[in-house]
Amino acid sequence: MEVEIIEQNKKDGKTKFILSKTTPAYVNTIRRIIVAEVPTMAIEDIEFRQNNSVLYDEMIALRLGLIPLTTDIKAYNLPSKCSCSGAGCARCQLKLTLKVSGPKTVYSGDIKSKDPKVKPVYDKIIIVKLLEGQSLEFEATAVLGVGKEHAKWAPGHIYFQNAPKLKVLHQPEDVQKMVASCPKSVFENKAGKFGINEKRINNCDLCESCLHVPGEDGVMEVKADESEFIFTIESWGQLSPKEIIEKAVETFDEKLEEFKGLLKE
Ligand SMILES: [Zn+2]
Repeated sequence: MEVEIIEQNKKDGKTKFILSKTTPAYVNTIRRIIVAEVPTMAIEDIEFRQNNSVLYDEMIALRLGLIPLTTDIKAYNLPSKCSCSGAGCARCQLKLTLKVSGPKTVYSGDIKSKDPKVKPVYDKIIIVKLLEGQSLEFEATAVLGVGKEHAKWAPGHIYFQNAPKLKVLHQPEDVQKMVASCPKSVFENKAGKFGINEKRINNCDLCESCLHVPGEDGVMEVKADESEFIFTIESWGQLSPKEIIEKAVETFDEKLEEFKGLLKE
């Protein structure tokens, strides 16, 4: 297998790379491990001290659970794997507090964390709007968890597609019409000659629009490569794409070791 990074955007947490000389089963295993098994922090328990806002405690709790928290993956253990065996300690849970009075719009940024490394990824997620005389106060407990338990713990949106294999079979009648047929702008008109823009070829999502341009039959050949994949990680901000993939590989290793151990028994 070979890996080549083709896009890295630190600001929005998106990373794209090409995995080649591999199989769909292997690539999908990595995807599934990321979504289901790479842990992140999320709010799991909330003790409401005061809430006379328009939203019930349960609804606010649901909203809080879905706020992504930056995750210090090395400092925390999954409760089930912690030395406290799930009872709750500083190594497996973190307290977050909030105390505000209206009139005010309560944002995720108003939540105070005891650990500066674990706090809401975005400050402007609205929790509730308070009117004059209304107030909200709670203590929340965030824990590490995994996406197979609840989607709030999934680290991001992960997907892959087969790499496109495009070939121009002959020049079209109308170059501009063929160039315009691609919604992903994969083609170019180079001094009247129709061709593929090599820099944009990985944007092709195999939609085959270029195969159905009226009067331009057989200009293009579009195939999906069965051994090469464009893999995308869109992090929701808890972990960086690098941390996500490293943790996934580590988890994959652990699973294989466990399997090896079971076979020996
Ligand atoms: Zn613990």
